[in-house]
Amino acid sequence: MDKKIDFLMDDAIRLIKESDNILIASHVQPDGDSIGSILALGMAIEKLKGKVRILKVDDIPSDYQFLPNIELIKEFDDENIDLFIALDCGDMERLGSGKKLALKAKQIVNIDHHITNDNFGDLNIVSPSSAATGELVYKIIKKMDVQIDKNIATCLYTAISTDTGSFMYSNTTYKTHLIVAELLKIGININDININIYQSRSMERTKLFLDSLDTLEILLDDKVAIVTTTQDMLESNDAKLEDTEGIISFVRDIDTVEVACLLKEIDESEVKVSIRSKKAIDVSKICNKFNGGGHIRAAGCTIYGSIKEAKKLILKEIEMAFR
Ligand code: AMP
Ligand code: MN
Ligand code: MN
Repeated sequence: MDKKIDFLMDDAIRLIKESDNILIASHVQPDGDSIGSILALGMAIEKLKGKVRILKVDDIPSDYQFLPNIELIKEFDDENIDLFIALDCGDMERLGSGKKLALKAKQIVNIDHHITNDNFGDLNIVSPSSAATGELVYKIIKKMDVQIDKNIATCLYTAISTDTGSFMYSNTTYKTHLIVAELLKIGININDININIYQSRSMERTKLFLDSLDTLEILLDDKVAIVTTTQDMLESNDAKLEDTEGIISFVRDIDTVEVACLLKEIDESEVKVSIRSKKAIDVSKICNKFNGGGHIRAAGCTIYGSIKEAKKLILKEIEMAFR
């Protein structure tokens, strides 16, 4: 970790120690990194100061309900906030309903690893070379001199494992493995954690997966794969939007595919787009064109229009990216 990030973390810890009312939050449509990170930092601050609040900005997917102290994530509308800590959020819009509380806080600390982060905080700890926000949270907790117990370690492991595709993606570094080695030393049960995260797919989710895959189209010399999940599919399978998890990685894994795209219909005029790549294409740049963002190999955005319109617009940008 570079010196600058180290100094910024010292400043953040000073703010945490000085502040009375601290609120921690992350992004809407939460994933393992966002939930694992807010819980881990929340538990550590609770150990240090005896109190903390973790804001719920969206429903927690069933995959992460097993995490220790998940019930700490709650709705708050108290506007008396000294310090707002945003984790894993590239911009303030990603906080959803949390944005209005962030704007009322005396100070905002922004801790993130998205390359597209717009430095919205008063203090910005942004490290695109970190595989997960969980890596940054690990480092801050160590610097705070709070002991990482099994509960904190379980949340950090979940954060890092999910954002690295189980340590497979190119964002994984030797530092990732050193951190995870420390977490294992603490005695977490990775078999239980991995069964909870990766081997507990519901039948509803499985059927949604099959329906979505049925829409598979392979384009641009077999280099691009696109699939769609519609509201009808969600309804007929009694599934939720969070149940689309896993579809895009399956499609990306087709041998000839470089870019995989999943279109998730929110309603007839809104589509959430997820894009993944393997080696050559920077998908964060594609999503940035639609006011979204993310990482080089994993990014997302929202397109306002029908599925058909969204498909046309995104495919045009994907095609341009290959030129
Ligand atoms: P997803 O496809 O939703 O799993 O997101 C892939 C990556 O892009 C994650 O790191 C997200 O945090 C990020 N991302 C997704 N949607 C957006 C958005 N609308 N704006 C900025 N970043 C996003
Ligand atoms: Mn995230
Ligand atoms: Mn992340």
